[in-house]
Amino acid sequence: MFYLSVGLVAVMLVAAVAVARSLLGADVAFGVAILGLGAWLIYQLWHIRALAQWVKDFRGSPVPRGSGNWQVLFGDIARLVRAYERQREQLSSAIDNFRKATEAMPDGVVALDDHQQISYANARAQLHLGLQMPQDAGLSIRHLLRDPRFLDYLNLPAAIANQRSIALTDTPIAGRTLQIQRVPYGQAEELLITRDISPMVRLETTRRDFVANVSHELKTPLTVIGGFIETLLDHDFAPEQQRQVLQTMGQQAARMQALVEDLLVLSRLETEDKPLDEAPLEIGSLLERLLAEARLLSRERHTIGLANEAQPEGEILADFQEIASALGNLVSNAVRYTPEGGRIELGWSWREGSEGRQGVFWVRDTGPGIEPQHIDRITERFYRVDKGRSRDSGGTGLGLAIVKHIVERHSARLEVSSAVGRGSTFSVVFPAQRTVV
Ligand code: ADP
Repeated sequence: MFYLSVGLVAVMLVAAVAVARSLLGADVAFGVAILGLGAWLIYQLWHIRALAQWVKDFRGSPVPRGSGNWQVLFGDIARLVRAYERQREQLSSAIDNFRKATEAMPDGVVALDDHQQISYANARAQLHLGLQMPQDAGLSIRHLLRDPRFLDYLNLPAAIANQRSIALTDTPIAGRTLQIQRVPYGQAEELLITRDISPMVRLETTRRDFVANVSHELKTPLTVIGGFIETLLDHDFAPEQQRQVLQTMGQQAARMQALVEDLLVLSRLETEDKPLDEAPLEIGSLLERLLAEARLLSRERHTIGLANEAQPEGEILADFQEIASALGNLVSNAVRYTPEGGRIELGWSWREGSEGRQGVFWVRDTGPGIEPQHIDRITERFYRVDKGRSRDSGGTGLGLAIVKHIVERHSARLEVSSAVGRGSTFSVVFPAQRTVV
């Protein structure tokens, strides 16, 4: 097509020159040739200029229109441009989707080029590693994260690093543990996956502490019993002495039994998803029962009674067994920690909350009180303010942990207020939806 049209123009020009020469002479023919070539040149230059101008700003303006060969050429270019734009749109929507997908991921993702320079980091990775995009794009990850363990990990060959991960505790978010893994892709590019594993680490530490605590709690009475058995085997004791030794062994066995029982209760509460056996529970008789328990435990060493301001009428919806055991635990603590001659008061009141009438049970004692720094921790398993006093009074260190579980199962909350040397008040606040109207 191209050669055909160029040939056609040349033939037409030669024919015009030949005709001019035969009709008008050589000079005119020469003039015609010059004019023809000039016009042809101007035609070409005009199109070249249009092309050059379009190339300069080929995204902003449409492909120029032309005639003849140029029309064909511009048509081809326009088609190429359309195909290119389509591909560009597809590519940018693919990149957009990739970004959206990585942003939605619960893990941090950093894309590194073949020089371990950052090409992309999702929001979570920026948070985990303290990166700032787009400012940090193109920077080496080594210059931004200088933990020696991380640098050693970066130095590993990609194939080995992919099989491993490292846990970093010295991270931009204080108190958090990050797991980092390199995943190679493409030619020599890599993804750096970051994951916040702090909850798992905390759980593992709690589990380890718990096992260590249980072992320790069981070891002491077992050692005592073992020691006494040896002594009994090796020596002859008078019946009275023997009775005393057996009594101490019995106390230690009871301590172990109490511990195992509390552990079973706690494990049932933590593992079983047993629904509450709810029924209306009459406050008056609940308080009577708790007062009777307190008096039995106290053996007349304390003054025990209902608080003057108590409003022991009404009902709440609760699991009787669980609530009686939780509130009984609070009452038993008050008796156990209050020295002889002290006063213990039980009470119930109704408060107007934002969502209706809340019921509040409380037990107030004149015991040693609890220093503020311990209050938030006393519901932790095996946390004791005074270890000796707890053990001497038969405590397992699990009572309040059990209370907290039961209280939370009832959507209620435990409140503790205390003044050292003056006493403590433990309250359980039941939400309005537990009030029977
Ligand atoms: P324990 O079996 O040791 O009593 P708890 O979980 O019931 O375990 O209580 C945890 C700790 O809270 C106790 O060791 C004790 O130091 C403190 N505590 C609980 N109740 C009282 C109270 N009424 N007065 C003072 N301290 C208390």
